[in-house]
Amino acid sequence: MQQLVFATNNRHKLDEVSAKLNGAIQLLTLHDIGCYDDIEETGTTFKANASIKSHHVYAEYKLNCFGDDSGLEIDALNGEPGVYSARYAGTHGNHAANISKVLDNLKGETNRKARFRTVISLMWNGEEHFFEGTVEGTIRQELSGSGGFGYDPIFEPEGYDITFAEMSMAEKNAISHRAKAMEQLIAFLNKADK
Ligand code: IMP
Repeated sequence: MQQLVFATNNRHKLDEVSAKLNGAIQLLTLHDIGCYDDIEETGTTFKANASIKSHHVYAEYKLNCFGDDSGLEIDALNGEPGVYSARYAGTHGNHAANISKVLDNLKGETNRKARFRTVISLMWNGEEHFFEGTVEGTIRQELSGSGGFGYDPIFEPEGYDITFAEMSMAEKNAISHRAKAMEQLIAFLNKADK
């Protein structure tokens, strides 16, 4: 069976994709292939960072592989926090501080338009393919909800009057940027020569 490395150690993301692949491809994590490297996200775009991950694995292990990168883009902040979403307030993964910084920077701002974006880079038989997913929405004045992660409590997707953090995981997964990019990847893999 064809094997494909997902350049992540996030088991939750891995299970999501595995479930949609109908068992046609065996998915492996970085740890599964013995890769414990700290792959640094030094790019200035989601595309570049996703590419860094897939190329690292392909160069070192010669295995088909994909990497993803995602974040929040706010129009009134010229696309910030963008690729710096995880470390916007300084410390990687401090979601509360990141949210505070966004709300501070948007104080008095009436244009609250924003979107989440995910880019996936797939290295498949030596060729790179990109898949992208976005979800449009607005930034709330205050936090609401306790589900999800990251900026979910302040992001209200277009067409809804609740935040991502107020949705069930299934509801969020039906419309999220990550789900849309993953669906494209899966459609490609289901059609690809295995
Ligand atoms: P990652 O590259 O997918 O791990 O995401 C980088 C950062 O973007 C996360 O640490 C979050 O701050 C933000 N982010 C990405 N996707 C989401 C989401 O679905 N909800 C909330 N925040 C997100």
